[in-house]
Amino acid sequence: MEVFKFGGASVKDADSILNLHGILRKYADMPLVVVVSAMGKTTNLLESVWKSKNEAEVEKLISTFRDFHLEAAENLLEKEHEFFNWFNDLTENLKRKVIHNSHNDEDYSRIVSFGELASTRLIQASLHEQGQDLIWLDARDLIKTEQHFVGALVDWDKTIKTVISSIEKSGFQYITQGFISSNHDGHTTTLGREGSDFSGSILASALKAEKYTIWKDVPGVLSADPRIERVTTCYQKLTYQEAAEMTFYGVKAIHPKTIKPLANHDIPLCVRSFMELDNPGTLITRESTKPHAPAIIYRFNQALMTFLVADFTFVNEDHISGILNYLNDHRISVNLMQTSAVSISFCMDENSELLEEMRKDFVGIFKMSYNSGLKLVTIKNYDSKALNGVTKGFEILMEQKTRNNYRAVFRGALNEPA
Ligand code: ASP
Ligand code: MG
Repeated sequence: MEVFKFGGASVKDADSILNLHGILRKYADMPLVVVVSAMGKTTNLLESVWKSKNEAEVEKLISTFRDFHLEAAENLLEKEHEFFNWFNDLTENLKRKVIHNSHNDEDYSRIVSFGELASTRLIQASLHEQGQDLIWLDARDLIKTEQHFVGALVDWDKTIKTVISSIEKSGFQYITQGFISSNHDGHTTTLGREGSDFSGSILASALKAEKYTIWKDVPGVLSADPRIERVTTCYQKLTYQEAAEMTFYGVKAIHPKTIKPLANHDIPLCVRSFMELDNPGTLITRESTKPHAPAIIYRFNQALMTFLVADFTFVNEDHISGILNYLNDHRISVNLMQTSAVSISFCMDENSELLEEMRKDFVGIFKMSYNSGLKLVTIKNYDSKALNGVTKGFEILMEQKTRNNYRAVFRGALNEPA
């Protein structure tokens, strides 16, 4: 059995869904679980629904949600298809949820889940029209979580049990949603933005699948973002370790949580294009290969904070662990860290409210200052050419170099590609 994942870009309209049909047709005889995200930018739209306190605006957003899905459905299905009734009920249900929206995390997950529910039903219905039958499963009955409604943590024991009892490993094909899950009370939870990659990885690992394939709008894992760097290489092979490290540095091709469950069971991960079907993409396994071309990875919207010891002593382990514990309690991840005799510096994703809060919380222990609007670049397997090319013209605020990696926090006119 294999697991496939299709993201929003691969199902953004009727034409892309027809393209997906073409791919699945090739694998019609293989036991398969297909995990699908919400269509196109639907999750962003539903996030706006959740956020908005303006009734007229919410109504407009829900109409956009409805019309967008109906347009695709009308291009894919017969007029009388039962999907239309189902979808009408779904939209009514969404409206009811929105009336009781308290804008908290619980309502967030409840509201955004409608994107994946709609896309998977539509795709199942359209595949059925083409003679390919996939069993539709509600991912909330498969992936069980604990703590937090958003960015929920997986309850692995329960999840493995429910997955194994719901999915027959031979003979059938299934379709289910990425991103959504449920807690012990059966309430909808979500795994974090772009979490569908992780959903597929959870299912592949619970099923001990033979392979997990993520179908993307890029040819595989690239050495750099083609929107930033003119020349990029697509890696043919990477190890789990290398791929995991790259996701930490900011590679967007794979969600950071995807690798571990696969590596635990030696399940190969393939990242490949849903457009260039002859291109085998990147295969990620345990096997190491020859040295790779340098990878250049950016993280945007970074803040650099510096904690200066307030009492003229030197930085010690207590200081460091005090700050790290604080960051851990606030679920803040550190992207880069450096210490000097009297100060400790951290680079993290920008969050101005939190930075101010932190400054207050550390009064008396540290004098905390920060710069925001920064970028963090990592060059993995750097060489002098890559180093010179990347750092030229930027004002570097903090720099780190090991045998393999170069990392720098900088200010400069490079913008995050839209
Ligand atoms: N639909 C969700 C999002 O846009 C999950 C995903 O696409 O992986 O974040
Ligand atoms: Mg997506």
